[in-house]
Amino acid sequence: MPGETFTPSSAATRLTHWLDALTATGLQRFPVNVEQLALEVGQQLKWTDPIAIVQAADIKRFEGGLFHLGDQGWALLYNEKLKSPGRVRFTQAHELGHYLLHRLTQEEFECSQADMIHWGPEQKSIEAEADDFASSLLMPMKQFRTATTADVVDLEVLSAASTKFGVSLTAVALRWIRSTSESAVLVLSREGFMDWAVSSDKARSNGAFFRTKGRVVPLPPNTLAVDDSVSACRTGQRVPLRSWFEHAHLDASAWEMKLLCENYGYTLSLLHLSPGDKTWEPRSWSR
Ligand SMILES: [Zn+2]
Repeated sequence: MPGETFTPSSAATRLTHWLDALTATGLQRFPVNVEQLALEVGQQLKWTDPIAIVQAADIKRFEGGLFHLGDQGWALLYNEKLKSPGRVRFTQAHELGHYLLHRLTQEEFECSQADMIHWGPEQKSIEAEADDFASSLLMPMKQFRTATTADVVDLEVLSAASTKFGVSLTAVALRWIRSTSESAVLVLSREGFMDWAVSSDKARSNGAFFRTKGRVVPLPPNTLAVDDSVSACRTGQRVPLRSWFEHAHLDASAWEMKLLCENYGYTLSLLHLSPGDKTWEPRSWSR
């Protein structure tokens, strides 16, 4: 059964080159048709256990799954209740990632919604690897940079990119925050509490981050994020940086953007900070 051993990025790069070449023959490049790709990639790589089936299924608690069918190869399933094409596409790509990266280590993969968002360089799990692959496949960095080049990257720009790549705004915003050299923080919250928060490298090095893992973290009280009278502010509003980070300089401000996603019951907030603004707690000199 053998074959090459891939990393998330080498697998995505291999498929990206293949898709780029197919585009030269007239194929529409984006959004990526993951279903078709999954059905063809095994043959393309000359693997003896290709993905034979890609279909919606009643798999209840899971967003998606990948199952070995013995001699028939593999079945890639996604939850039939998923309404958004972007979530279906990301889920299919995540499972394709398990196929390319992990099929020799497991015969069954069952993946939850939470498995679809925890990706990034500091994550090492197979779920993070599958997400990393999915993100790179659906939004290759070269085209992603082109789509998100703007004087100010706000939720308008990221929404347009989400349409182009056919993925959710959250997936696009995560891709951007992981790759930008700017100082920015992305927060997903529900009913006033942070589900998770991700900072760009620059923001993190300036102290602008939240520790949400395993903790209950309320949204700060004087932010656009908690203002129920505003459901969407895609281009942003200037706010005192202290409204988010209590140790920020009194005069520092940030751009806060917000989008309430009523269908899913969460709020996405994007904070854009000046690159020089630091928010570290002052050191206490106790000795
Ligand atoms: Zn998974």
